[in-house]
Amino acid sequence: MNIGIIGGGISGMILASKLNIHNVTILENNNRLGKKLLLTGNGKCNYTNMDFEKLDYIYNTELAKVLYKKYDNISFISYLSKLGIVPKIEVHKNIKYVYPNNNKATSIYYALYDRIVLNNVKIKCDEQVLKVYKENSKFKVLAKNEYIFDKLVFATGGISYTKNKCASVALSCIKSFGHNIVKLLPGLTPINYHIKDISLQKYNFNGFRVDAEVSYIDAEKVYFEYGEIQFTKLNLSGIPILNISNKISKPLYIDNKNIELHLDFSFAILNNLSSKKNINNKDTLYNKKSINEYNIDKKNKLSKIIDILIKRRNELYYKKANDFLCGFLPDELNNIIFSILKINNKTVKELSSKDIEEIATLIIDFKVQCDKNIKFDTAQITIGGVDTNEVYSDTLESKLVKGLYIIGEALDINGICGGYNIQMAYSSASTVADTLLNMEE
Ligand SMILES: Cc1cc2nc3c(=O)[nH]c(=O)nc-3n(C[C@H](O)[C@H](O)[C@H](O)COP(=O)(O)OP(=O)(O)OC[C@H]3O[C@@H](n4cnc5c(N)ncnc54)[C@H](O)[C@@H]3O)c2cc1C
Repeated sequence: MNIGIIGGGISGMILASKLNIHNVTILENNNRLGKKLLLTGNGKCNYTNMDFEKLDYIYNTELAKVLYKKYDNISFISYLSKLGIVPKIEVHKNIKYVYPNNNKATSIYYALYDRIVLNNVKIKCDEQVLKVYKENSKFKVLAKNEYIFDKLVFATGGISYTKNKCASVALSCIKSFGHNIVKLLPGLTPINYHIKDISLQKYNFNGFRVDAEVSYIDAEKVYFEYGEIQFTKLNLSGIPILNISNKISKPLYIDNKNIELHLDFSFAILNNLSSKKNINNKDTLYNKKSINEYNIDKKNKLSKIIDILIKRRNELYYKKANDFLCGFLPDELNNIIFSILKINNKTVKELSSKDIEEIATLIIDFKVQCDKNIKFDTAQITIGGVDTNEVYSDTLESKLVKGLYIIGEALDINGICGGYNIQMAYSSASTVADTLLNMEE
């Protein structure tokens, strides 16, 4: 049996590393395998996570949950351990990210690559697949050279973060077999934004970081994420923003809705002041709540922040209003808040009760409007891809074309930040490896 794998990225490499059988060929557009793998997790490769409790929040499709249940994080960690990779767990905000112990994505690359070589897989780089046909139960694949395969796996990934168009060519090949390609959108991406009625251009800052709870309110529920966000004049980034970007991509770009994000800077302040409550409370992460719950929560916070600010006004009466929040929030944010309220010329003791209430409102509900310019080059993943209803969940074989399989990000599966996307590359590749190895026996 001749097996062709189109795409030597993460999922293609994992699959090839598992196929210790004859006649496996990888066709890769780049001049080497695993180029994106080397970039992941800032070169450290966050390959999975110990926190999969909220599968519903982490992945967008049922298929992802089925695949994960079969090949989970423990399975992945133990597979890589057998290839020499010792896992290291790093905990941030109670989320347990898994990296190789030496913090190097290259070690995962070589762990897979050496096994692929051991398996005698033929590696054909600089081979962009342009067309695929099926003739008499064989697949004819046209790249620089022509190849014939009995079974064909598309491991061609998404179209984000890449300068060449090869993944969209690959998706066109899959489409030519009659498959539906769910609209491609950027995911895990910084969000370009503006603030209503205010231009940030006049402010003197390049960027700043602040802890915030970021919420997106859709028709029935509120998605929220807590963590550090980075502000520049153009965009917002940081893990909470990247995760929320997955939720807003469709309403923003397809439904053309005006999307507002609500930033709450009070969370750390209030939680730090209450001795019992833990700022890293897991319930505040990866979560959604009802609009009613959200509004009650906001109301409670508002009165607490007003109390804190009134006390602060009494203690810091001698300061300029611009310095009122100094040591509380980043200076750049103080300036923006006071400019929005047009009270930068006052002194602290001149701040009225109405001023205090408006400052408190901006601290707990700072609204930014999301811009609608679609950009794939800064997105870590692609939302959309091959419709997951068109593959069998137990084998990942196409329901339309016998012998054709699709794995990794080419499928319409996306996960949030934290190793969940590489985990899915593993879960899907392992499913197809099983299927193909069973056929060989
Ligand atoms: C900067 C960055 C950091 C990231 N960090 C993380 C992280 O830490 N953890 C995590 O879980 N996820 C991370 N991701 C996401 C993760 O890299 C992807 O989800 C993962 O690479 C998907 O694997 P894949 O095999 O489906 O696609 P890819 O790894 O993109 O591989 C697809 C391969 O197919 C090849 N190809 C495409 N079309 C053709 C064609 N027509 N002919 C021949 N070859 C073709 C491509 O050249 C590519 O090598 C990150 C992404 C980026 C951009």
